[in-house]
Amino acid sequence: MYVDSHCHLSMADFVERMPDIRSAMAEARVDRALVICTTLEEFDAVHALALQYDNFWASAGVHPDTEGLKEPSYEELIDLGSRPRVVAIGETGLDYYRLNGRSIADMAWQRERFRVHIRAARTLGKPLVIHTRSASDDTLAILREEGAGVQGVFHCFTETAEVARAALDLGFHISFSGILTFRNAQDLRDVARWVPMDRLLIETDSPYLAPVPFRGKVNQPAYVPHVAAQLSELKGCSAEEIGRVTSANFERLFQLPAAGSAA
Ligand SMILES: [Zn+2]
Ligand SMILES: [Zn+2]
Repeated sequence: MYVDSHCHLSMADFVERMPDIRSAMAEARVDRALVICTTLEEFDAVHALALQYDNFWASAGVHPDTEGLKEPSYEELIDLGSRPRVVAIGETGLDYYRLNGRSIADMAWQRERFRVHIRAARTLGKPLVIHTRSASDDTLAILREEGAGVQGVFHCFTETAEVARAALDLGFHISFSGILTFRNAQDLRDVARWVPMDRLLIETDSPYLAPVPFRGKVNQPAYVPHVAAQLSELKGCSAEEIGRVTSANFERLFQLPAAGSAA
């Protein structure tokens, strides 16, 4: 049994295809998914999925890349983060990849938004879903300043071994996506090889980043076993063992009941 610890399913075309998405999940033995929120405007649609289906959960947060939409206040994040079946704050973090002519100094609004999310997570006692791209130094520095006692995951990990080590030292989990299966991702596979089993998660980040052999197609939670299969080669165990361990890690981090028990 596998868990997709990070997917985006609230877009209209996904919602319309939900019976197919869910039957493909069942066939692939993907029994649970965490549906991730990226804007305040999207929250209701994400939350509705978690309320409708007892094997979906939701996060509450605003992605670092979204600019010009409603800025989340601490109070709003506390409100949304307290709703039933909301188990995480995020995705949040820093993304300096698309600066589009802006300087890193210009991205103070991202850093402030990240701090607000960390404070809300700390108050709520819920884990953070961290997105970091081309910004790992600032991401780690802000976490060290604000994140005492806060748990979470560095999702869709693509950073170096040094960043992985720092994230683990902060007590965070590391989640790998389909990128791990890409031919040019040898450095990332070398990192994944030594990340401790009890800190690993797997995800699709649907609809993006479909793993080999679906690369270039629309990704979906049913594809997460391909990430597990790649990890199992690196770890020298079975894909089922990766599924079992990452599912247990998911339950522990997001404070969920074990699979099969009442939600
Ligand atoms: Zn992300
Ligand atoms: Zn995402």
